[in-house]
Amino acid sequence: MKLIKVKGIVIREVTYKDNDKIITILTDGLGKVSAIAKGAKKTNSPFLASSQFLVYSEFVLYQNTGYYYLNSAESINTFYNLRVDLDKLQIVFDMTKLINMVTDENQDCEKILKLFLNTIYALDKLDKDSKLVVNAFKIKLFSLLGFAPRQDKCANCSKALLESEEDFVYYNYVDNTFLCESCKNTVDNRSKIQISMATYNAIFYIIRSDLKKIFSFELKSYTDLELFGQVFTDTVISGL
Ligand SMILES: [Zn+2]
Repeated sequence: MKLIKVKGIVIREVTYKDNDKIITILTDGLGKVSAIAKGAKKTNSPFLASSQFLVYSEFVLYQNTGYYYLNSAESINTFYNLRVDLDKLQIVFDMTKLINMVTDENQDCEKILKLFLNTIYALDKLDKDSKLVVNAFKIKLFSLLGFAPRQDKCANCSKALLESEEDFVYYNYVDNTFLCESCKNTVDNRSKIQISMATYNAIFYIIRSDLKKIFSFELKSYTDLELFGQVFTDTVISGL
């Protein structure tokens, strides 16, 4: 029996039979995997802590008849503070649902794992607006998956938009592109949203910066970032 050691975080747990659990783990070596934790629901189980939602552990797994099983596990971080804050727990739960939706079993997830760990660390320890954290997470997640808007200029007239003096830009979510003030009417109102220039700069900052730095910015208001995060997420999800 070949043992496989990975580090990972549980992003879903479901009861299986009476005392077992099937857990979905975002791992550093195997991508996203589902594993059966035998007896994990028993109070004396060695998997009691590490098979819980949001616990980051070192897992030793083995494969049998096509399924992964937990051989042993040692928890590294339980993110206790997040677990007892119901608002933050809901935010994290929604993020894991999104990750589950956009990733396949065994797909390489190393960067997504890092992004998710950085994000929950930011929610847990950094004094950041949760709207900043959640929307930076969404934008970076979809960038990693190849859905980020590529051009930082107007899709119609090619005017450079980053750091430009205009107050607003327009996101065309049908084409996943941006338009300047003069070109906004080339696209139907039902296909675009208006966002502030500060938000636009922040979006490209998130897309282009290192995973560790994506939360290192501030905006006077996060309303437009939240609107963009929502519309961008819906656009990507509906196209999957
Ligand atoms: Zn233009």
